[in-house]
Amino acid sequence: MGMFDCPKHGLRGLLEMCEHVYASLQTSNPIDAKRSISLLLCPVCYERASMHQFDGVKLEEKNEAIVEAYSEAYGQISRVVCCSECVQEAEYYAAKRAGRPLPFIGYERTLNWSQLEAVDQLEAALQERFVFQPSRRPVSKGRSSLFVMPGSFTEPLTIEIYYVTAPSEQAQILTLIAEFFVASDYPQRRILFYEAERWHEETRGNSSSYQCLEGVLLREELVA
Ligand SMILES: [Zn+2]
Ligand SMILES: [Zn+2]
Repeated sequence: MGMFDCPKHGLRGLLEMCEHVYASLQTSNPIDAKRSISLLLCPVCYERASMHQFDGVKLEEKNEAIVEAYSEAYGQISRVVCCSECVQEAEYYAAKRAGRPLPFIGYERTLNWSQLEAVDQLEAALQERFVFQPSRRPVSKGRSSLFVMPGSFTEPLTIEIYYVTAPSEQAQILTLIAEFFVASDYPQRRILFYEAERWHEETRGNSSSYQCLEGVLLREELVA
């Protein structure tokens, strides 16, 4: 799957859709789109390109006739690429307005990629009032072991902290964070305290690979 650099959600998966679905996402009444292999389609495009022939078909099956038929149908559709998170957000609000069950927990009030200034302010406020240990991961050399990541619609803003193991110090940090958000319209957040950073590094010949691994989680606080 390709990536889409969305101004609101950051780097996200992308979805391809017909221009009608895309146009309806910008309104308060998104089309109930049908998914066909990699495309989201309005009922008219779905019918016109006879997409029902691909119901239940997986393109990985490498059936040449199907791949050919699909690329022909695909070519008939006037397509637009959009961030997958924007599509989910539109679907969420459509369900909410129609009084249907919500498809997932939507974080409507979390700091996201379009509010990086506030995210940076939060990080600076914490750095100013607590001494975090330096990160030991080679990829984050020179940084501290406090990581603040903006949220999106499906994920809250996430604050990861390593090496702060004493409950009293954790409580102190949680208080600082709560103070920052006290008058905020975007207070939804997740705070994760990990014992230590973990990673895996491997060099084979000329190539090396690097992977951040999940640390031992000591405490998790979700303000939703
Ligand atoms: Zn369409
Ligand atoms: Zn987006």
